[in-house]
Amino acid sequence: MSELSELYQEVILDHNKQPRNYRKLEGANHHAEGYNPLCGDQITVYLKMDGDKIEDVSFVGSGCAISKASSSMMTGAVKGKTKAEAEAVFEKFHQMVTGKPGTPAPENIGKLAVFSGVCEFPSRVKCASLAWHTLRSAMEGRDETISTEAEEAGDDAHPRR
Ligand code: ZN
Repeated sequence: MSELSELYQEVILDHNKQPRNYRKLEGANHHAEGYNPLCGDQITVYLKMDGDKIEDVSFVGSGCAISKASSSMMTGAVKGKTKAEAEAVFEKFHQMVTGKPGTPAPENIGKLAVFSGVCEFPSRVKCASLAWHTLRSAMEGRDETISTEAEEAGDDAHPRR
């Protein structure tokens, strides 16, 4: 954590300590599980979708500070948005955390800019993006465990007998 700038670190630590929307969602009609084997981060995202709109969103799970803070802030960023709007935020977020270090955070990314420093630490990119991958999986309605490792996701979806 000493890797990230102090201000950003504070925000991340705050969300790690007091994650927002951290609960199993009553009346959820979509959910998905995400797993980042590189770090051991594990989350479940719950969605209450009304057509294309995310009426409510929550998560539970365990993992490092970055994965937890990212999950917490993801829920705040997508609540009330449509599926397409949430995808657009994910696009920006993904570009930011996988971008060249030193690139300014994209416009309109709001508080999520605290994760801009993550691009300097490739091993942390998956921690930061796990919540978003899991959100996408939940929106698509695939009730399966997704993994940040594509091959392992395949294994999870089709266990060998
Ligand atoms: Zn992690």
